Amino acid sequence: MVYDVVVIGAGAAGLMCAAQAGYAGRRVLVLDHANKAGKKILMSGGGRCNFTNLGTTPQHFYSANPHFCISALKRYRPEHFVELVDRHGVEYVEKTPGQLFCATSAKEILRVLLTECEWAGVEIRLKTQITTLERKGDAMCLATSLGRIEAGVVVVASGGLSIPTMGATGFGFELARQFGLDVLPTRPGLVPFTLSDAWKARCAELSGVSLPVSVSSAGRRFTEPMLFTHRGLSGPSMLQISSVWQPGSAIEVDLLPAEDAGDSLRKAREITPKRQLSTWLGERFPKRFAQALLEWYPDPDLARPLAQYSNAELEQWGGRLNQWTLKPAGTEGWRTAEVTMGGVNTQAISSKTFEVKDLPQLRFIGEVLDVTGELGGYNFQWAWASGVACGQAC
Ligand code: FAD
Repeated sequence: MVYDVVVIGAGAAGLMCAAQAGYAGRRVLVLDHANKAGKKILMSGGGRCNFTNLGTTPQHFYSANPHFCISALKRYRPEHFVELVDRHGVEYVEKTPGQLFCATSAKEILRVLLTECEWAGVEIRLKTQITTLERKGDAMCLATSLGRIEAGVVVVASGGLSIPTMGATGFGFELARQFGLDVLPTRPGLVPFTLSDAWKARCAELSGVSLPVSVSSAGRRFTEPMLFTHRGLSGPSMLQISSVWQPGSAIEVDLLPAEDAGDSLRKAREITPKRQLSTWLGERFPKRFAQALLEWYPDPDLARPLAQYSNAELEQWGGRLNQWTLKPAGTEGWRTAEVTMGGVNTQAISSKTFEVKDLPQLRFIGEVLDVTGELGGYNFQWAWASGVACGQAC
């Protein structure tokens, strides 16, 4: 079998790339070892796929080569993908400013991509194992469970390591190494934190409670909700900070990001001296969390009114609330991580065509590359943008 373009991976980037190459008149084959295309799309955004972010800029991405993503993101913008889903009649909602989700189901996005591939004449073969990829003169040769396949160009769109049960493998990284490319160390990103014994039990009791917080670590800060889970801490703020968190280090959570808690407590003591601390906490936090705070930090006499608290005591409470500091034991790892930090070093890849600089027959797109977005639809925007740039250049 001979094709102009073979794409490895029928995920977001691979399908987008294949459709573009197909429209450009290329004979295109997409191969995937999974039994279904676009599995991650289907599970994304809680089943509703946060398919783009209208505010996408290169600053929303982590990479050792921060300029690499600029060209593709500039050429294929969120509005272009919105135009595409509009043409296919997909209804969507803007949940948080800029974040677009399907109104009904992530299946709609997969339908768009598969329809585009069909219209562009792309062939998709699932449940296909690829055993080797070799260069043969100007062409690339794949040994697969379908037999030998020859291609003018092979595009590696096999994604990262997150959620192995959804078909994730390190195959793209192995191919990169085989062709002499550098792979930057990988680690799970956008992943919930696990806690050690005492905090694990405390947080487990609060499982399901969500708070608007501001979290900081490693010089970054995110102000978004935090969710207690039976394993530790999750929710958008924790997923975001997990991407920069260094194992063994602490995270600092501002539980009342809109106010200086020490200041507010002193004012409350002045204005409402008879009020109790528990009442003050109960006005600011969900009941279960306010109660938990008082159990974690026992007060010598909870019945006393605020008037009887010293400045030092109120300052101490202020610190607990504005700088709640804890050391995660780790993260939930690849099992639940949404993305892979690190990946194929982009120094050897063209930011215009995504070809390997001294081997144009081989290209890498999407999450397999060392380009990782923050939470909020940026990762799919990268998949679309890199897929389009590469597909059009094939
Ligand atoms: P993938 O979509 O991972 O596709 C890779 C494909 O390659 C897969 O089909 C896989 O089966 C195939 N493959 C792997 N190894 C092989 C092999 N050896 N042989 C053949 N085929 C292979 N991002 C957002 O922007 N918004 C969201 O709402 C969002 N939600 C997410 C929710 C979850 C739970 C997860 C896990 C991720 C989420 N993401 C989200 C991230 C987003 O899904 C990825 O960034 C995106 O799918 C990457 O696209 P890709 O095409 O590079 O890789």
